[in-house]
Amino acid sequence: LEPKEEFEHSSLTVDVMRPRRSDPALAVLTQEGMTVGEVEALVESTHYSGFPVVVSKESQRLVGFALRRDLLISIDNARKRQEGIVSASQVVFTEHAPSQAPDAPPPLRLRGIMDLSPFTVTDHTPMDITVDIFRKLGLRQCLVTHNGRLLGIITKKDILKHMAQIANRDPDSILFN
Ligand code: ADP
Repeated sequence: LEPKEEFEHSSLTVDVMRPRRSDPALAVLTQEGMTVGEVEALVESTHYSGFPVVVSKESQRLVGFALRRDLLISIDNARKRQEGIVSASQVVFTEHAPSQAPDAPPPLRLRGIMDLSPFTVTDHTPMDITVDIFRKLGLRQCLVTHNGRLLGIITKKDILKHMAQIANRDPDSILFN
């Protein structure tokens, strides 16, 4: 297989990641400013296994990644056991609690459940390299960035589906992967 042919065969991470153009936007949490009720509503309105945490919706700067399971368990525990945690409590992923109005309910601090250095690849990373990273590191998901901003997510299942599609279209190409 000539190097040029290989290049023509290979797709880029941006072609395989989600969301696709027609999909709803990436579901993200902000490091501060969201309430317990808002976080619960977001998590419960989707089936995603995890949620990237960003500095703000405007910046889309990645802060970390929180698993659905950990979010639900922590919120449930806090509601039952932590004094003053209600739907209006602010969820905080930052190191220091932000200043709040004196009459605001106490914040729920969730930095502890966040993966502070989730793996990322850029949108233009060739898929064969992304697949290699998944294999070598045993990843389940990886975040995708563009110019340092969060753009999307790619899961092991997304990759497997993509590979199955390629194999259907062009059974020979799988031999070289
Ligand atoms: P899996 O791909 O193993 O089923 P998920 O349930 O987390 O894992 O993801 C289902 C689909 O939704 C995948 O195509 C994935 O790329 C996408 N996805 C995962 N997390 C998010 C998210 N936070 N926002 C938008 N799409 C997501």
